[in-house]
Amino acid sequence: MISQEQMQHMTEAVSQIRETMAQAARQAGRRPEDIQLCAACKTRTVEEVRFSAELAIDLFGENHVQELVEKTDAGAYLGKPGHFIGHLQTNKINKVVGRAALIHSVDSLRLLEKIDAAAERLGLVQDILLEVNIGRERSKGGVMPEELWPLLEQAGQKNHIRVRGLMAIPPADAEQAQTVRYFAAMRELLEKGRERYAGLDILSMGMSQDYAAAIAQGATIVRIGTAIYGPRDYGTK
Ligand SMILES: *Cc1c(COP(=O)(O)O)cnc(C)c1O
Repeated sequence: MISQEQMQHMTEAVSQIRETMAQAARQAGRRPEDIQLCAACKTRTVEEVRFSAELAIDLFGENHVQELVEKTDAGAYLGKPGHFIGHLQTNKINKVVGRAALIHSVDSLRLLEKIDAAAERLGLVQDILLEVNIGRERSKGGVMPEELWPLLEQAGQKNHIRVRGLMAIPPADAEQAQTVRYFAAMRELLEKGRERYAGLDILSMGMSQDYAAAIAQGATIVRIGTAIYGPRDYGTK
């Protein structure tokens, strides 16, 4: 069940987030309509997600294949796009390709090959982002910045993949000024990438704590969970 209180919280939260997004855009000389709000809805129920889909959310981001399958099958996004934003295991690719409008987290040649093969079988072209480990953290997804151009070139050779841009999750414990530098570095990478690959226009970065800073540095999709739905409860599901 979803309570009246929860519905009111979500409604107010989304309208406040949109306001902050629009303000950050204008301050950076950008158009608010050029930035999309992705609701990061891992662990949220079909009911919660369906309610939130009536609000000013542009698309939904899932971290777990099972949740993507469950919520798309249930029509929880009310026709809005579902993206895959989590770590992708090669053995689950078949369930994601064609179902996710955009896969944000591609970071290896092996994934490119598996996605390309799955997309070919379905007769479609899968849109993806390449994830960059901009903070160079151990045990974190994403390619190191210097590995990005070789991977982009390999992606360019796949007929059933279209790279649309880049994604990053800067270190959670970074100082704000450092986070801003990471976002700025991502924007530079996107601009350089455009000289190598046509059509790179998406920069997916910024979460509940730092989305305004991400927009100031050029984010075109911000991925927000906690600020919309409240704290996640991993214990009771
Ligand atoms: C959970 C998650 C988010 C949202 O994080 P919040 O801090 O809850 O806003 C964004 N991106 C990814 C990849 C996530 O896994």
